[in-house]
Amino acid sequence: MPVLVVGSIALDHIKTPTAEHHQLLGGSASYAAVAASFFGPVNLVGVVGDDFPERHKRLFAERKIDLTGLEVAEGKTFCWSGEYELNMNNRKTLSVALNVFEKFQPKLPESYRDTPYVLLGNIAPSLQRSVCQQVRKPKFVVADTMDLWIGMARADLLELLKEVDMLILNDSEARQLTEEDNLIRAGKKIIAFGPRYVAVKKGEHGCLLFGRDGEFFSTGAFPLEDIADPTGAGDCFAGGFIGHLARTDDTSFPNLKEGIIQGTLVASYCCEEFSLRRLQSLTADDIEVRRRDFGSFIA
Ligand code: AMP
Repeated sequence: MPVLVVGSIALDHIKTPTAEHHQLLGGSASYAAVAASFFGPVNLVGVVGDDFPERHKRLFAERKIDLTGLEVAEGKTFCWSGEYELNMNNRKTLSVALNVFEKFQPKLPESYRDTPYVLLGNIAPSLQRSVCQQVRKPKFVVADTMDLWIGMARADLLELLKEVDMLILNDSEARQLTEEDNLIRAGKKIIAFGPRYVAVKKGEHGCLLFGRDGEFFSTGAFPLEDIADPTGAGDCFAGGFIGHLARTDDTSFPNLKEGIIQGTLVASYCCEEFSLRRLQSLTADDIEVRRRDFGSFIA
């Protein structure tokens, strides 16, 4: 089953305590689409400027990602610049140049509108809602979000939550959205806003999954000794998760739990190198090897 991925496509400048790189392929949709492509076909919707390097487009094509929905607009590609602290967990945004992303209105090609599994990557909730209106009878819709939208577009986000099956956000965002310090209570409050499920990510400490009927799952992250660049880990988590659901075409809670694990594993690979570099050399077999290791850590 194919997955539809909508989100940002960016040229990132990333600074860590030990390295700095410019003009890296980034953006929520880039990471999520490539992560999902390890599980099955992906339909990508996003916008880039006329400066977007051909090699980045080739990377998507090599992963067999359908680019019918990739818009090339006159102007520059969205550019985000961030810097990590020593702990490689906290980061601050140094600059954002929206460029062609400012006027982005996701338009689904007719061939995408029956895609059964949908990932609304991190973009304005009003745009995520416009995608929901363009897909016909999807089986499962996941939305990702960030602190910016919780602060700036709360009303739109609350409307979106009534229309999606699942929300993914990190622990600080869950606290911000619910004004609740305890994550268990925060998770339950988010469910009350509308989605059937919510996944609360805790960075290197893993993830909590809550369901409307009291379902609950908790997992750690895959232990990594060296982290080169955690940018995009959250998007890879979401892409791996929805990719697994689509591959198995199964939205039961036990299978959602396995999706959380698959997302966790793809995210762990993402952190090993800058940008999408580790994912470029990754294979489905690598993910399986790490799955076996991970199983032996938790049982
Ligand atoms: P993550 O590390 O999973 O939070 O995702 C990082 C990616 O999000 C980077 O590659 C950025 O290009 C992208 N990004 C940063 N700010 C925004 C924003 N306001 N809207 C959409 N994407 C963004």
